Amino acid sequence: MNEVKKIDKEMDQFVVIGLGRFGKSVALTLASLGKEVLVLDDHPDAIKQIENQVSGAVVADSTGTDVLASLGVQNFDCVVNCIGEDLQASILTTLICKELGVKYIVAKAQTEQHKKVLEKIGADMVVFPETYMGRKVASTLANPSLNEILSLTDNLKIVEMATPDSWIDHSIGDMNIRNKYKITIIFIRRNKEIISPDQSTVILKDDTLIVAGEVNKINALSNKTKNVLDANQSLKDALDE
Ligand code: ATP
Repeated sequence: MNEVKKIDKEMDQFVVIGLGRFGKSVALTLASLGKEVLVLDDHPDAIKQIENQVSGAVVADSTGTDVLASLGVQNFDCVVNCIGEDLQASILTTLICKELGVKYIVAKAQTEQHKKVLEKIGADMVVFPETYMGRKVASTLANPSLNEILSLTDNLKIVEMATPDSWIDHSIGDMNIRNKYKITIIFIRRNKEIISPDQSTVILKDDTLIVAGEVNKINALSNKTKNVLDANQSLKDALDE
């Protein structure tokens, strides 16, 4: 499990360094959420692609003398260092941010060793985007009737689940679901709408159930389910450009 420093207040101002696919996606998502985003890349083309969609854009080498200091990156709430391939630039950029006193540093790692170094020099959160997405895609392929939303504890999860065969056309009350299966249906997604169900709600074949429950109970049910989730829905993040 990664050691991640707690984010103790809402962050509004970000610097995103390195506009590869990951950096670009981080910068544009933050901007679309109304955050102030300054992007920096040493390739003018990378900057040109998104400069009109963010608050500020700079073509510069983040490891250059005083580049980050003169931009005042320490005055932003967070720096996201998305340089991956150039190990030296990734480490040096994180180190400079740390020395400048940046409040929260997120850094992207390529390997386990890279991650260890980034943590040692003070990155507050180290991410492996490819590993995370690889896990997500693999688990959807291996179990297409289940999509994990949130892991509350090792044993307790909130998931999206296709309707188990034996539940189709029965009401939640009739099936006595909470007592019999130790699973709580929180919401039902039906024809793109979200329903908050009660005991009288009848479960339909094409419903997607958002449920909370113990891992072994959820897995036992989904193993017996022929229905599958809409892959587009469960792999939404992976399929979005
Ligand atoms: P992704 O997988 O997200 O596409 P990547 O791992 O291939 O990215 P890199 O190739 O390391 O990432 O670089 C991402 C971006 O960072 C590139 O646009 C590159 O120009 C930029 N970059 C690399 N080093 C520096 C640096 N020292 N200063 C500024 N930008 C840099």
